[in-house]
Amino acid sequence: MTSYHHSIDGQSSALPVGKVVCVGRNYAEHAKELNNPIPTEPVLFIKPSTALVGLGSTISIPQRFGACHFETEMAILIGDRLQQCDALQAEAAVVGVGVALDLTLRDLQTQLKEKSLPWEKAKAFDGACPISPFVSPVRVGDLQNQTIQLHQNSVLKQDGHTTDMLTHVIPLLVYISQFFTLLPGDVLLTGTPAGVGPLAAGDHLTVSLGKVISQSVIVSRD
Ligand code: ZN
Repeated sequence: MTSYHHSIDGQSSALPVGKVVCVGRNYAEHAKELNNPIPTEPVLFIKPSTALVGLGSTISIPQRFGACHFETEMAILIGDRLQQCDALQAEAAVVGVGVALDLTLRDLQTQLKEKSLPWEKAKAFDGACPISPFVSPVRVGDLQNQTIQLHQNSVLKQDGHTTDMLTHVIPLLVYISQFFTLLPGDVLLTGTPAGVGPLAAGDHLTVSLGKVISQSVIVSRD
């Protein structure tokens, strides 16, 4: 695997590369499109640090496990230890904002869900979390006033807005820290808006968050 390191505002960061805590079904329209109920509290899962790869000029997807879907999500880089934190501590710990793809082996996930088994193989495989370079939060502005978009081969597939998150970033961090201690270098993925779909080798993607992040990516075979 390529070795991934965090960067902020174009500078490589000394923060270690930690776990990725993800939130499922954090946009009502996405929950509906997969026929899932709208949750009454956040649905959490974790990708290990080995899932992180740079969302650079190319990403590779597994070919052997059925459909691999894109889910475009705002990503938050954590700079402080958060354990049973409050909102002020959570806010102070946000040191970077980025955009990530929560790659999901949808056929495998569906099989696992049908058997009431954990999703890990579908969500936590090597390379399952391509992530952009981070931008400092002051450059991004209001975390809950950002567009989030994915174009696939010039077609707009995902066109969301972070104000529509069922649980916003700071309350999410407070909630997560009741269960999992967040460490410097950990990442939060905040859920995907509607419009998810399968990737194919050769696809050209443009992934963007607000006015500050836009990444162009070609999908290759692994
Ligand atoms: Zn997701």
